[in-house]
Order: sequence, then C-alpha cells, then structure tokens
Amino acid sequence: MAADGKTSIWWNGKLVPFADAKTHVLSHGLHYGSGVFEGIRAYRTPKGIAIFRLKEHVERLFFSAKAYKIPMTLPFETVFQGCREVVKANALDECYLRPLVFLGHGQLGVYPKNVPTETIVAAYPWGAYLGPDAIEKGIRATVSSWQRLHDAAFPCSAKGAGQYLNSTLAVREAREKGFEEAILLDRNGNVSEGSGENVFVVKNGRIATPGLDSSILEGITRDSVFQIAKELGYTVEVRNIVRAELYGADELFFTGTAAEVTPIREVDTYVIGAGVRGPITTKIQAAYFRAVHGEDASKAAWLTLV
Ligand code: PMP
Repeated sequence: MAADGKTSIWWNGKLVPFADAKTHVLSHGLHYGSGVFEGIRAYRTPKGIAIFRLKEHVERLFFSAKAYKIPMTLPFETVFQGCREVVKANALDECYLRPLVFLGHGQLGVYPKNVPTETIVAAYPWGAYLGPDAIEKGIRATVSSWQRLHDAAFPCSAKGAGQYLNSTLAVREAREKGFEEAILLDRNGNVSEGSGENVFVVKNGRIATPGLDSSILEGITRDSVFQIAKELGYTVEVRNIVRAELYGADELFFTGTAAEVTPIREVDTYVIGAGVRGPITTKIQAAYFRAVHGEDASKAAWLTLV
C-alpha cells in the first residue's frame, strides 16, 4: 500500500491537503536524487498511538542531510514535532511515516545552487511490508546480481534518495525471479543487506550481522534487536558474513522499520533450517512486537506518544 490520498501532508511546518502537496518537475531532487528520507512506524499502545524511536530516526535524517550537504532549514524540534502532528492531525491509527528533505525548484545543474530545501512528512496506513504471511511464515530471498553501493562512492550510512536506485534494481530483479526480496553483497563479496532491511544470521545458537564495513545502512531496528537479543541472553557478533553462511544458516531474518522482524525461510532455493520461522527469530520477533506496542515497560523510552 502507498500513500492513501486521504491524509494531509506536513510541508515546511504546515499541513497541506494531499492533492495540493505537489512540487515542480524541475526540482533538483527529481533530477539528481538529491534528497534524504526516513521510514518510521507508529503503533497502537495501551497509552495511545506512539511513534517508535522517533528521536533516532530524526537524528539519522539530520545526519543524512549533513552527509549530502543539504542545508536543513528547520530545527530538529520542528521536524520531530511535525512527525507527531501529521499523525495526530490525520487521526491515524497504526501507520507509516515518511519524512523527506529534498532540494526543490530553483536552478538545475548538478552543483546545487539557488535551490530551496523542502521538508515534508507524510503518514499513511501501511501493513506488513513483505506481505501478510511474511511475519509468521517467512519469505524467500535471492542473492542479487547487483552489488550494494559502496562507501567509496556513497555515504552508505546515510539514507539518500538517489541511493535507492541500487535497492530498486535489486528488488525488481528479485521479484522478476519470483522471490520476495533481494540480499545484496558488498564490494568484497560479503553479505551486506536487503534492499531495505538489515540481515541477521543464526547458527548454533549464535547470532551475527554485517558491520558498517559491509556498506550497510545502520538500521534502527537492527540496533533495537541488539538490545533485545542481549536481554534474551544472546550476543550479536558484528562481523563479515560470507555468502555460504546464508545457505548454511539455522535461521535468517531481516530487520527494518517496514519489514519489522521478518524470517527468511529460503535463499536461492536453499531451505533455511527447517524452512519455517526459527525459535530464536520467534523470540526476538515477539520481544520486538511487545516493545513497539508498549507492552515492555523497560522500552518506554523508545516510544513517543502522538
Ligand atoms: N537497509 C536499508 C537499505 C534500508 O532502506 C533500511 C530501512 N530504513 C534498513 C536497512 C533498515 O533500517 P531501519 O531499521 O532503521 O528501518
């Protein structure tokens, strides 16, 4: 599901009706991918709708803008409150939030000169990213023929709009081959991440995930899983992971705001473990859903009520 056409959109500090939230076709961001964005979820909790790890997402948005030297024209607090406002004003239940900061209409040319910064936040209902069965049954992924973009070419830990052409190529190829998602390798042939998710490998009770040197986006869900896994008594090794470790894993799962914690039951027709959601994935997933839904008091700091 995409933006639903009903909700108003927060634009540079004001709410604009959905139909009026338009930009010029000569916007810099449209031509050169010069934008940075976030994906955030809000969940139902006993105290009302709450946004998960909002502060960390807005911090990453500001970091991404800095990495690409896109001048932020609104203070942190305004963007932070804008996220709350758009959910509240649209009386949304559980939803997905999409903040985007892009270079707008001014002068064209690769060097951004005389172009305004535009900041928007959209919010709309969005269910399970990889399909309704994905969370319970897991998905089928394929190792992409496209390599993950590399830190020598892009600041990979920034969420730059243009970077997502790499993700789009990979996920398109995966879907055309009949898989739900792609896993990209880094420039050295090690496992990097999914087109929009980090990946975790479980083998003999040990959990591992690639580090920043594998060109990953440092996921906020990944960070949440580090804490959850630790509390469940597991350590997560951050290290290089070779392709064959995917095929030989007992369990594999993706993490991401959109994908949440999604088991991977098959990679390139290799069945992972028993081909069903594994026990460690199940435990981590359950703890994650308790946290996002405000059922774990120790994680209250991760939630911002709207
Ligand atoms: N990698 C990529 C390429 C992504 O787009 C995302 C989604 N933002 C992630 C990883 C997971 O990050 P997060 O858990 O912060 O959503």
